[in-house]
Amino acid sequence: MRIEFTLPTPTVLIQGSDSVFPVRRIYCVGRNYAAHAREMGFDPNREPPFFFCKPADAIVNVPAGTTVEVPYPPRTSEYHHEIELVVAIGRAGSDIAVEDALDHVFGYAVGLDMTRRDLQLALRDKGRPWELGKAFDQSAPIAPLRRVSEVGHIDRGALWVQINGEDRQRTDLSKLIWSVPEIIANLSTYFELQPGDLIYTGTPEGVGPVHRGDTMTGGIAGLGELSVKVR
Ligand code: MN
Repeated sequence: MRIEFTLPTPTVLIQGSDSVFPVRRIYCVGRNYAAHAREMGFDPNREPPFFFCKPADAIVNVPAGTTVEVPYPPRTSEYHHEIELVVAIGRAGSDIAVEDALDHVFGYAVGLDMTRRDLQLALRDKGRPWELGKAFDQSAPIAPLRRVSEVGHIDRGALWVQINGEDRQRTDLSKLIWSVPEIIANLSTYFELQPGDLIYTGTPEGVGPVHRGDTMTGGIAGLGELSVKVR
């Protein structure tokens, strides 16, 4: 059989630019918010962050000011929203020090880590990999990236998502258990980070189901919003 196809490189829009951000990998952080504000200083009870991946072509671009439709995915009856801060890596590195980590950030965006929760939990309970629950087609909607040179670094501010105009998740990014620099430092001990990598940094409490016809509107203060309708 001859190979007579090529594959497009998935990309993310960049706000205010004709350029796009080519996506190499999508890393996601497992649970990364506590129910209560983190106290200053070391917390001996916290666990190291853990990671999973989505394929790069799970990206769904949501241009500013638009609503993009995604299909209700197959093989689930618990399709859940997870609103998250997404970090875009612009410079390679491994074993990155926490104090150097932000030098590797190209920009930030608001994104949704869409999840087939029933599959994820069944797999988790059996000690099996999470791909079927997390890494499915069109599972990573994302708003246009905002460059660090434009918005600075994001370490606080509201993060929220509404379903049909009702609040479902709302927190402040300062409640991240593992900060963006800590995530980058830790992840870079496992993988050499490369330009084009995205990191979904975890979701706060309040995850829940969406159904056909529902519209999710999420945002991060200072970064913008995204709107996604389930078809
Ligand atoms: Mn998530």
